[in-house]
Amino acid sequence: MTENNQKQIFHWADQIAEKVIREKGDKESYTVASGITPSGVVHFGNFREVITVDLVARALMQRGKKVHFIYSWDDYDTFRKVPANMPKQEELKELLFQPIVDVPDPFGEYSSYAEHNEKVFERDLPRVGITYVDFIYQNKKYRAGDYNENIIHIMDNKEKVGEILQQFRTSELEEDWAPLLTYCQHCNRDRISITGYDKETKTVTYKCELCGFEGKEDLKTSSRLKLPWRIDWPMRWAYEGVDFEPGGRDHSSAGGSRDTASIIIKEIFGKEAPVYAAYDNIGIKGFNGKISSSKGNVITLKEILDVYEPEMVRWIFASYKPNAAFDLSFDLDVLKNYEDFDRLERTVYGLEQVKEEKRANAKRIYELSQLNADGKIPEVMPFQPSFRHLCNILQINDFDIAKTRKYYENDIKNERDEKRFNERAERAVFWIQNHAPEDFKFIINKEKRLDVELSDNEKTFVEALHNELSQNWDNYQTDKELQNKIGNMVTEFGLTPDIYKKLYQILINRDLGPKLAGFIRSIGREKILNLL
Ligand SMILES: [Zn+2]
Repeated sequence: MTENNQKQIFHWADQIAEKVIREKGDKESYTVASGITPSGVVHFGNFREVITVDLVARALMQRGKKVHFIYSWDDYDTFRKVPANMPKQEELKELLFQPIVDVPDPFGEYSSYAEHNEKVFERDLPRVGITYVDFIYQNKKYRAGDYNENIIHIMDNKEKVGEILQQFRTSELEEDWAPLLTYCQHCNRDRISITGYDKETKTVTYKCELCGFEGKEDLKTSSRLKLPWRIDWPMRWAYEGVDFEPGGRDHSSAGGSRDTASIIIKEIFGKEAPVYAAYDNIGIKGFNGKISSSKGNVITLKEILDVYEPEMVRWIFASYKPNAAFDLSFDLDVLKNYEDFDRLERTVYGLEQVKEEKRANAKRIYELSQLNADGKIPEVMPFQPSFRHLCNILQINDFDIAKTRKYYENDIKNERDEKRFNERAERAVFWIQNHAPEDFKFIINKEKRLDVELSDNEKTFVEALHNELSQNWDNYQTDKELQNKIGNMVTEFGLTPDIYKKLYQILINRDLGPKLAGFIRSIGREKILNLL
């Protein structure tokens, strides 16, 4: 391919970036947006939205564009429901329908319920390389009156807004419907009805459905106003000049909020909707067997990072188009995911035989998986300790990472290797202790077992193996060599495969274990001779 040729576009993030440039015009800078109501723990499904924006933002930046990534915390939304996983359920129920930002933190750690959920998530984002986000706290924007002018514009066009929404409704909008809410001056709740709007003075009157209070708000100066979601979204697109924002399934259906918002921004604000990408839900597989969203046990970015390296988290999300559903695995598939990621890495560095197109594709996903936003990849391939092998060595060494490192001493050549080893080892320990199936775990026997029943022939075999390993340990430089030797000995002694079961009994009190030859070599001469 010559430089003049059109660069082939492999990745969905590049395709969306090209679309943004095509539809929004070739500009110097683009605004991309994401937003979440911090109504509960911000979980991995919400993270999908953020990383979708991040990947598109990077694709834009890597095309020489500037990107303004705005992330809206919709913390002026009403506190609609108490999630089941929150403490102080009864106290929280008392606060329903107030702004989320006015609800105290039930954990007593932050200034509000909203801030608690916000900060926990904000803290983890840089760990996956998302560092350039401009967080907007919508309670501040609303309360400062930044949207008042737009709110007046909406109220002045109330009928038109109603007609747009009516097209997608099966029932008629109520007589007193208005595209506006306000938090009641008396009880601070948004269960109110607008009872009148004076276009001349730009004031609304309202009645609170909960406490019966009848009040008045001046739209020019009020700090209590709040737009309902279907109006709020397009108003902010117009206000912020958003060029790209994805949305979840619930917003993406025909006649859903994305559809109505696209019409409202055009008809009411005379602007075009941002480029859109619908993203699907994600499932969880094998999370310690007890994940249930109905109980509110939601998985956060931190829990994914406990098991997967940061680059792998990016890679998993970058591997699926936003509209594809997939499962995040915490069970034995974790081993497979590590193997797949290592294969991808080897492909990028030319160590796997694949077609050029496949290599280019792999390289692009690998670039997008890097923590640095420029996508620059390490000059030499990082060291790849196999996750499975690492799990074995760590268990042999009672989870002592420093001791385990000695097995890999010669492979760790630079800082990147060191980082890879440490990150992977920490995750292997965590995974074994928290998620691995029971039959994956083992503990090396501390003392020689005398109670394993062996026939005379088997006894002689174990003694012979002991002698062989004692005298010729250093002759076995690979697992294969030792494997062949043991196999030959088993044949010479005329033993059945039952002997392997007994050897695992001698080593780890179990009938099965990691592949024997490699396992013996990993356990080390001294311990093995002691146990045999
Ligand atoms: Zn009230």
